[in-house]
Amino acid sequence: MKLCSACQKPLQGGLVMGGTPLCRECEPDIRDLVKQTRDTGKPVNIAHIARRYFKKNHAWDKTTDTFPLSSPPGELWAWLEVHAKQEGSNVREIILKALYEYQSRQSE
Ligand SMILES: [Zn+2]
Repeated sequence: MKLCSACQKPLQGGLVMGGTPLCRECEPDIRDLVKQTRDTGKPVNIAHIARRYFKKNHAWDKTTDTFPLSSPPGELWAWLEVHAKQEGSNVREIILKALYEYQSRQSE
């Protein structure tokens, strides 16, 4: 399961722009922001634009931008870091995917 970089929701369809996965809902907004950035003459980094868009429009806590998970069990965290690296992912993405899968099971 891939996540949209701009809203962090699971991708169903979607596309990849400059190496950044985006859903069909976010794609037009990101395309506009890319155009705005290009028009100012600044270098365009789509991953950075998507991240900023996420923080502005979808992040739960816009001031801290952190998960409320303190002191996770060390062994589990170490395993997650290794597993995420092997998958070409990161701990954050794995936690998000697990949460979406949990949510999907609860909604059945
Ligand atoms: Zn999206």
